[in-house]
Amino acid sequence: MEFARQAKGRHNHKSCIAQALASADQVCRSDGARLTDLRRKVLEIVWRGHDAVKAYDILERLGGERRSAKPPTVYRTLRFLLEQGLVHRLESLNAFVGCPTPAGRHESQFLICERCGWVREFHAAKLDQAIARQAKAVGFQVHKKTIEVFGLCTHCQTGRRAT
Ligand SMILES: [Zn+2]
Ligand SMILES: [Zn+2]
Ligand SMILES: [Zn+2]
Repeated sequence: MEFARQAKGRHNHKSCIAQALASADQVCRSDGARLTDLRRKVLEIVWRGHDAVKAYDILERLGGERRSAKPPTVYRTLRFLLEQGLVHRLESLNAFVGCPTPAGRHESQFLICERCGWVREFHAAKLDQAIARQAKAVGFQVHKKTIEVFGLCTHCQTGRRAT
């Protein structure tokens, strides 16, 4: 998908959001799940950029619009989005990021900029295979894999960013 390859910065992010919401509709419909207004709204907040979003940021953002949004509601909504594969949870940050390719389950790895929080999801089948091989070799049963790589995005390396 084109927007999945785009770096942050100079691109039409509105089309990223539009595409994410369209994919979400599709995924939910084929799963018989309902993308309620709140679920859609939370997904939109997660997609406000290509960086990781914390649950309390979502709560804060929602709070401005609907007083009724309580932490359990937000967590429940995030759990739904996770289950549908529409967002991923970044374990080391305890934060969430929108999935650009939610149709079809996949294992993900992440590049995370430690300065601006930019996140880029990628899928390295060879990495998964290598882990599976290693685990098998020692009879290890894998339950969860979290591959989150920290560093600096191109913008932060060159300091072209205002912040
Ligand atoms: Zn974008
Ligand atoms: Zn994904
Ligand atoms: Zn950065």
